[in-house]
Amino acid sequence: MKALEQRIQEDGRVIEPDILKVDSFLNHQIDPVLMQEMGKEFARLFANQGVTKILTVEASGIAPAVMAGLALDVPVVFARKSKSRILSDDAFTADVYSFTKQTSNAIRIDKRFLSADDHVLLIDDFLANGQALLGLKEIADQAGATIVGAGIVIEKSFQPGRQNAIDAGLENIHSLARIAVFEDGQVKFVNEEA
Ligand code: 5GP
Repeated sequence: MKALEQRIQEDGRVIEPDILKVDSFLNHQIDPVLMQEMGKEFARLFANQGVTKILTVEASGIAPAVMAGLALDVPVVFARKSKSRILSDDAFTADVYSFTKQTSNAIRIDKRFLSADDHVLLIDDFLANGQALLGLKEIADQAGATIVGAGIVIEKSFQPGRQNAIDAGLENIHSLARIAVFEDGQVKFVNEEA
């Protein structure tokens, strides 16, 4: 998505060899106009696929997920994070290793908000190693829900997340921006001419 790529070029900062900071429009301050455009793009990509619900993880997945939910006219459920995995009859849970924080978190979704009748679209802000996506998949699987696909705002294609997700059986993964490499602090996109 051109507008997103442009914004990454203008405002994104490569802060570590493999981490992009986009806190001026996505992860801290939020640009609602760009976010809404992204929601519409997700809706276009996953139109006519029977999506009944969107799943994401707090906190940074919520904004794009809500905009996609608005455009697709379906509810959005965000998995809550907690330090430990407390097994409960009331919730579906999974463990997720955080790429940026390098700690493990449990994520949970109340059973009232997900069922075997659901056709879910998974949404997240970044795809790095795929752990967040795999955690959401595990939760959807526990519910017996059908996964329609996954929508990612920024995919770092030089990391194994997409392949890990495919290996786990996820199909129909669409990323609005795909980063091929960080080169001297600059972002190069997958479809960019060499
Ligand atoms: P994964 O679970 O795919 O390994 O990592 C995805 C999660 O880690 C995202 O939900 C995001 O919060 C965080 N993350 C991974 N890479 C980056 C990055 O380069 N920048 C930022 N801001 N967050 C990232």
